[in-house]
Amino acid sequence: MTAVWSVDSKIFLRNATKVKNNQSIMAVVKNNAYHYGLEFAVRTFLEAGIHTFSTTSLKEAVRVRKLAPHATIFLMNAVYDFDTVRNNNIQMTLPSLEYYYQYKSELKDINVHLEFENLLHRSGFKNLDEIKEVLHHHENDNGSEMNIVGLWTHFGYADEFDVPEYGIEREAWLNVVNTLLNEGYQFELIHAQNSASYYREGQQLLPYHTHARVGIALYGSRPYSKLDEHEIEQALTVKGNVIQVREVNKGDYCGYSFAFEATHDHTHLAVVDIGYGDGILKKRATHEALINGKRYPIRALMMSHMFVEVDDDVHAQDEVILYNNDIRIDEYTFKGVGANSEQLSAMNHDSLIKEFR
Ligand SMILES: *Cc1c(COP(=O)(O)O)cnc(C)c1O
Repeated sequence: MTAVWSVDSKIFLRNATKVKNNQSIMAVVKNNAYHYGLEFAVRTFLEAGIHTFSTTSLKEAVRVRKLAPHATIFLMNAVYDFDTVRNNNIQMTLPSLEYYYQYKSELKDINVHLEFENLLHRSGFKNLDEIKEVLHHHENDNGSEMNIVGLWTHFGYADEFDVPEYGIEREAWLNVVNTLLNEGYQFELIHAQNSASYYREGQQLLPYHTHARVGIALYGSRPYSKLDEHEIEQALTVKGNVIQVREVNKGDYCGYSFAFEATHDHTHLAVVDIGYGDGILKKRATHEALINGKRYPIRALMMSHMFVEVDDDVHAQDEVILYNNDIRIDEYTFKGVGANSEQLSAMNHDSLIKEFR
């Protein structure tokens, strides 16, 4: 018995279709498709009618090109290997004035998307003036033979509800879009919305947008807690097994360095074959695991084991579920364990058995 990371492909596809909601989605497949596996994710998204992809790494963009020869592929980070970008027909962000002036001739024939910085301050043009400077310079400069095909931004606050920042960044962005379109500029692709923004707008695109650039919802987690669980389905199960159940008495310390002290006699502790070495976060282990449909408290976390306090109903070889659609990643996101993507990224795909059903 070994701990397992498994995905129900049918549910994954059903969820992708539901997230898509007949809108144009640019599926974010960075970090090996949130560790679901690039090949599995791209194939399933194609099946769901999604033909536009984006990632942060050129290596992944090239892999997506092989999996989806006709797809539109957008690289969210600027890179310097211009030949690979061009030869694989990958569209790329234009992240700053500095980058533009330095590399405009190398960008020949590459399709770029102008990036607006906004409140996240990670990348992009600072304001409309900088964007217009590029547009004007590009129009009048024979040495600049890139193609400006897109306009985009990334919201930093779409999952925050008690502060005004989302409204502020949304308005600043819509002003950029409206001003440029009013001045006659045209873009084949306009995109901004991550999962949170897409759902905040009622699974609709913002005005004049061509795509929502969605990640985590496609992978089965809600971007914020106000959404009903039925809106987004988790296809992933992460589980271990009970190796044995041991009985300890009041005052017994269990685990390394007094990790858990039994508070009563005849405490049943299940020893389970999954631990932080498999990617279970320490904070996740302050909560519960699901055994035979019932939740039991995790008492100690070790590298390849954990203790779960159980009752007479739990026996050796029972499955111990850390995550499935009844005990979801997003539940623990909202309980403060870590971002959805952080919990997903922690999983150790070298030690867990990976299964697609
Ligand atoms: C990761 C990422 C997304 C997707 O965000 P989700 O919250 O997972 O939907 C969109 N845009 C950019 C720039 C990203 O880095």
